Amino acid sequence: MAVMRQRRLPQGNLTLELPIKELTTSSYFSGDRRSRFTTSALPPAPASAGFSGSEHRLSDFEKVKVLGRGNGGTVYQVQHRRTGSIYALKSLISDGPIRRKQVSREIEILRRTDSNTVVRCHGVIPTPSGDVALLLEYMDGGTLESLLAARERRPFPESALACVAHQILLGLSYLHSHKIVHRDIKPGNLLINTAGEIKIADFGVSKIMRQPLGPCVSYVGTSAYMSPERFDPESYGGKYDPYAADVWSLGLTVLELHLGHFPLLPPGQRPDWATLMCAICFREPPELQEAASADFRDFISRCLQKESSKRWSVAQLLAHPFITRRDLSGFDQFREIISPLVTNAEP
Ligand code: ATP
Ligand code: MG
Repeated sequence: MAVMRQRRLPQGNLTLELPIKELTTSSYFSGDRRSRFTTSALPPAPASAGFSGSEHRLSDFEKVKVLGRGNGGTVYQVQHRRTGSIYALKSLISDGPIRRKQVSREIEILRRTDSNTVVRCHGVIPTPSGDVALLLEYMDGGTLESLLAARERRPFPESALACVAHQILLGLSYLHSHKIVHRDIKPGNLLINTAGEIKIADFGVSKIMRQPLGPCVSYVGTSAYMSPERFDPESYGGKYDPYAADVWSLGLTVLELHLGHFPLLPPGQRPDWATLMCAICFREPPELQEAASADFRDFISRCLQKESSKRWSVAQLLAHPFITRRDLSGFDQFREIISPLVTNAEP
């Protein structure tokens, strides 16, 4: 039986019900939940974290403010009482077997990742309600989605975009080389800090691929950023290559920053299910106007191939001229774009 839940759509206030077809329970929750959620097996926290890797308690932290609310739970900015270090604390509500499975996957993936391109987890803390909270590296610039909104959706210049695309590609390259598929790449899941770093976050629907190229069948993620074969798997043989699907979402994300609006629909159009189905599966992907460079146009078209086998891999895209010929000034431009955030970054 399909179970429904809501995913957020790109215009912020619109939602769409999506079915989830994964129903198995999590090994993390098969025994005593509290005793399993300790911090000991996580990657070591960097020196700046102020922890020695031992267990943390909620009472060690003071809530500063809410950073965001998503389907997975609420994310708070917190401060460690003794060290004064700032973190993000993501509370995960595990109501039901599907959520429990997602939570355990998110934890497992964060345990396995150790890269500057992926948001770091410093601990998993049991909460009084019997749920858990992730103690995450605090990213003081918010997300690419909030950055675009803060600049009133003014498009990013191309050279800054090459720097953005490069950083996301490095993150995806790390994940894919560790057989992790993200499955929810979108501006709202890409965190930035005021140093100009972009890190991949939110592994709530991600998956570790146990087979070399095991196809996926599950319907998870944010529908607007899904590739055609994910949005409508039945028309594509029921299974999809999740690595290629991440590349589509990356292309759409970069294009959104270029256009200033969700690329598959005119600005302001309500992205209901039928509209998205037409836009993603029936129409051709948008082509960039002449004003965009040939390299950029080609890069986007390599990502947004409707047929997944024609889409370039992350490794190929890292070698694409749009990325390899990127100008160092692009990073400065990106820093300039985020500079208004620097003054607002204090807790
Ligand atoms: P959704 O279901 O909407 O994708 P979610 O419940 O899975 O969201 P996240 O995407 O992980 O949760 O986080 C929700 C929001 O909280 C983010 O969009 C971001 O604004 C903020 N956030 C999350 N993690 C951090 C962090 N490490 N540093 C700063 N802000 C964060
Ligand atoms: Mg999210």
